[in-house]
Amino acid sequence: MKLKFKCSKCGSEALEEILVDVVSVTEIIGMEEDCIWPLYGDQQSEGGHVERYQCSGCGLAIRDGDDLVIGDEDLYDWLKDHGMLGDSK
Ligand SMILES: [Zn+2]
Repeated sequence: MKLKFKCSKCGSEALEEILVDVVSVTEIIGMEEDCIWPLYGDQQSEGGHVERYQCSGCGLAIRDGDDLVIGDEDLYDWLKDHGMLGDSK
């Protein structure tokens, strides 16, 4: 399904998920020549949970009344209720 998110505040059409308590694991594959910076390889993240969904433009959190919308199901319902889910086009 196509996302038709539109922020009520700034009009941005980009929606983002904010994850917290994530463990990020990055492989160090070498060091830059003549300096202190590592060269990084693959990165993986583990764990974490959704703190909120928000507009990517202005950071406005997605709320249902006063409550933050949290979780896949609630987000789906919220988008559906607000007419922001379209047919696959
Ligand atoms: Zn916005």
